[in-house]
Amino acid sequence: MTKSVIAIDGPAGAGKSTIAKMAAQKLGYIYIDTGAMYRAVAWRVLQEYTPPVSTEQIISVLDDIDIKLSYDENKNMRVETNGTDVSAAIRTPEVTALVSQVAAVSEVRTKMVELQRAMAKCGKVLMDGRDIGTCVLPNADLKIFLTASVEERANRRARQMKEKGYDIDVEEIKKDIIARDEADMNREISPLKKADDALLLDTTEMTIEEVLAAIVKMAQD
Ligand code: C5P
Repeated sequence: MTKSVIAIDGPAGAGKSTIAKMAAQKLGYIYIDTGAMYRAVAWRVLQEYTPPVSTEQIISVLDDIDIKLSYDENKNMRVETNGTDVSAAIRTPEVTALVSQVAAVSEVRTKMVELQRAMAKCGKVLMDGRDIGTCVLPNADLKIFLTASVEERANRRARQMKEKGYDIDVEEIKKDIIARDEADMNREISPLKKADDALLLDTTEMTIEEVLAAIVKMAQD
């Protein structure tokens, strides 16, 4: 069966973005990173307000927010918020610390889900996030729940941050991942969970190449 829509969900640091981007490239799909969209909203909140921020303050930035995902010639994703390139700015620890609070606000989710569903209409797409298989695209042709042990996820995230020039203690990252997973799994609206019909892929003991091969096989089966 041709699979037009692939949904990949999972907890923080499971390698979703890295793997999803590679798999989409290999399969010729458009990759939509929904976490980047929630991060763009959090970035915008931080432009206007200093934490701690209220729900009202979060909602206030939604009125005129315009989020655009595009790809450069090297297939690197570019995230624009009202014309400003925020691709790097949305990955800072400040944005990461705020994003789960922002993503728990129902007005934010309604707006993002609407945008994500519209994006999913443009051909073969691979979308990753927390609620893609359960809420955004419940009729996806293939659903994958990608996970790994919290230790492994923290180590991977630490390596990634180091490559970007941040020197953050791995225990700090682990704490952040646990806190974000807690917030994402326990929020009222569209909490992070495996869809009943999603295939579970535990990547703790797998290399990137092995995970990629497994996903490509699932997509082609
Ligand atoms: O995937 P990433 O770690 O960039 O996502 C950042 C945050 O955005 C998550 O911790 C979660 O709070 C939120 N998110 C979400 N729903 C999605 C994607 C991300 O709530 N579909």
